[in-house]
Amino acid sequence: MSSEEKEKPIVYTVEECQQCGLKTKRTFKLGDFVFKVGDLCSKCKASTLITMIYAEYIKV
Ligand SMILES: [Zn+2]
Repeated sequence: MSSEEKEKPIVYTVEECQQCGLKTKRTFKLGDFVFKVGDLCSKCKASTLITMIYAEYIKV
């Protein structure tokens, strides 16, 4: 039996509202980049800006 663990990266995008500061984390979509305008804020409907893109490694 192998005890080797495999890790799979999942890339996340963090969008930050310019008005209320709400941060929304979602999975990365093709075409995302830092400082791109994101979706509308779910709280105040202002525009958001992508402030961070990062990967998390999960064991599978
Ligand atoms: Zn907002």
